Amino acid sequence: RLRESSVLSVSNEAANLLPLVDEKDHKGARGKAAIVGGSAGMFGSVDLSSSAALRAGCGLSYAYVPDAVFNDFSLRMREVIVKKQSALDDLRGVDALGIGPGMGRDRRARDVFLKVYALDLPMVVDADGLYHLAEAKAESAGPKIYTPHAGEMARLIGRDADWVNAHRDDAVDECLALYGGVVVLKGHGTIVASKDDRVVNETGNAGMATAGSGDVLTGIITAFLAQGLDCFQAARLGVYMHGLAGDFAALHKSKWGLIASDLIEYLPEAFLRLE
Ligand code: AMP
Ligand code: MG
Repeated sequence: RLRESSVLSVSNEAANLLPLVDEKDHKGARGKAAIVGGSAGMFGSVDLSSSAALRAGCGLSYAYVPDAVFNDFSLRMREVIVKKQSALDDLRGVDALGIGPGMGRDRRARDVFLKVYALDLPMVVDADGLYHLAEAKAESAGPKIYTPHAGEMARLIGRDADWVNAHRDDAVDECLALYGGVVVLKGHGTIVASKDDRVVNETGNAGMATAGSGDVLTGIITAFLAQGLDCFQAARLGVYMHGLAGDFAALHKSKWGLIASDLIEYLPEAFLRLE
């Protein structure tokens, strides 16, 4: 059983990064986040990401899914607004976006990826988005955060996962040199790095090694971007809060019983700890 440890004590650094909530805010002023992803049989990832974005404080969260699954997916969601990927032009109105969770690797998904990746908006690139990035020549405009696990990192830099696991800092350097932006190398001791800054995250636990956990992280970071944090701040705070939510979730559900949606459920407890 996890015990209350220093990890769960108040972190001033994280508290200082929290986006401000103004008394007079309306939902349009609290950040609009969009997640582009999902495919037949992979609804869950975009559900987790877009729902996590709301729990991380943004006022509006949109999920852009393939037209073919729009009807089924929109019936499943309550607070999240569901859109068709054929309406990608509407994305210009959002504050930040996340691309990749469950989006698939086929040509249709690749074409969507290339269009979205070229938009001049702050963006989190994860999961199948990282696959397309590694496989295709993609033009980038806006600020980017890349969130690979070791296997995804290996593909991005042309190494194998064992090498990445043995050389995590070097892998991050190679990724930064190739793609720029902010790199989040996930796993025990997640590294958050830009060319100027680097931290190793101290929250989280192995109970978070469970399907969908990374999708939740993508939503949280996208929400912080939408609320106006810069890429390094959003990634740093997002990784910290995701891990803290995981530590609370493990206290209540155990490392064995923890599933990804618990991270969303316990994210409010993590915010309460910092407030
Ligand atoms: P993904 O593989 O994309 O689902 O992402 C997994 C998420 O769980 C990432 O945020 C990882 O950092 C986190 N995670 C996985 N394994 C561990 C671990 N052993 N300790 C802490 N966090 C982990
Ligand atoms: Mg993932």
